Amino acid sequence: KIKVRFAPSPTGMLHVGGARTALFNWLYARKVGGKFVLRIEDTDTARSTRESEEAVKEDLRWLGLDWDEGPDVGGPHGPYRQSERAQIYKQYVDQLVAAGVAYPCFCTDEELEAMKKDAEAKKLPPVYRGKWARASEAEVEEALAAGTPCCYRFRVPAGKEIAIDDVVRGRVAWNTDTLGDFVILRSNGLPVYNFCVAIDDALMGITHVLRAEEHLPNTLRQVLIYNALGFTPPLFGHMSLILAPDKSKLSKRHGATSVGEFKQQEIYTVEELQEAFALERITKSPAVFDRVKLSWMNGQHLRALPDAELTARIASNLVEAGLLADGGSPFAGAVASLVKGSVELLNDAAAQAPGLWGYPFAETVASEEFKPIAEDNFLEVAKAVVDAADSGDLAAALAGGHDGYKKWVNSVGKAQKRKGKRLFMPMRVAFTGSMQGPDVGDVLAALALESGSDVVDRSSF
Ligand code: GLU
Repeated sequence: KIKVRFAPSPTGMLHVGGARTALFNWLYARKVGGKFVLRIEDTDTARSTRESEEAVKEDLRWLGLDWDEGPDVGGPHGPYRQSERAQIYKQYVDQLVAAGVAYPCFCTDEELEAMKKDAEAKKLPPVYRGKWARASEAEVEEALAAGTPCCYRFRVPAGKEIAIDDVVRGRVAWNTDTLGDFVILRSNGLPVYNFCVAIDDALMGITHVLRAEEHLPNTLRQVLIYNALGFTPPLFGHMSLILAPDKSKLSKRHGATSVGEFKQQEIYTVEELQEAFALERITKSPAVFDRVKLSWMNGQHLRALPDAELTARIASNLVEAGLLADGGSPFAGAVASLVKGSVELLNDAAAQAPGLWGYPFAETVASEEFKPIAEDNFLEVAKAVVDAADSGDLAAALAGGHDGYKKWVNSVGKAQKRKGKRLFMPMRVAFTGSMQGPDVGDVLAALALESGSDVVDRSSF
């Protein structure tokens, strides 16, 4: 029975890399009818918070992921927070000590520092080669009896090759001589991260560990722990990083990287993803984080929604943005219809309907983009258009629907002795502040539906 897990450290927000790891594990579990476990890795007590755990879980739920075992849903292998499993880890430390695979180390920080310097000088790897690995039973007894603080180290077998058959990267091998006897239990009694992960994955029956490639160096330690305790290691799959479009490490400066920041967007339908998901298809090359494509994709998914739902979502987004009072009014519906063909994100709607919140005249006229039509006396025509509209003619014309609006346009054109683009462009800019976008007639028809109570505050736009 296949069982995978997502094991976030609750020290901040869920980021896109973590979300992908969670998604891949979940997709795999759901595709093969296996189990998906959520385990909270909060052994770093200084940096872990319950708020972060809640935020991560909320983001996972928002992504549509659910888990079969975890801190809130329970399960047969709990507790699912590492901070609540101290007894379990202690028991396995004791077992390793009894078997001679782990031993107490009483070295002081100064001694360790000196050993490190010495190794550096001799160009040896900075690994523990201290005396406590070879101490006699009597020496250990004496130090323990004296209450000398100690940590516990794992005795790494010398000169052995440890290899895994990684489902993404193929064969990965290490020589154990690159590794010193590493700490599994600190002198303050807290178990070390790699130890907890190995114990938990083994006890929770995890069959596949799919995680980010940055964890690859941990795998050697974890496999050694598995072997020492007689557990069968899981299959590992180490996935490449998600990079920014410029192929550098993804960071804040590339825009939103935490999942919560994407909540205003639709992401994907999941059935097809589950169907298409296969471990063999995870590639070694790093992924590139492409916001432009993500936005485009989002637009596609928005437009795949039933029309009434898309309209309702855009309208409620405009209400959230503080631009409309009532998302259910005919005016709101008309505004949503104006922009629904062009929004990529729901948040775009507010910016794409500026004509409805006043004519942003001064700025548009000053901008470079409008120069060509400005040189064609655009300003005069635009002003005349606005004057004609304000005089009340437009309101009367709009009462006659789209046809009424056309008649009005023709009359303005006659008065200005213009037609076609030379009439239309200044008019469009006058009413929408933009050279592109929805049909001006539709914009005005929407405005005609507005009742005083619909708009919250135009001046804030
Ligand atoms: N807690 C680790 C992290 O958040 C995950 C460890 C693992 O997947 O083995 O990066």
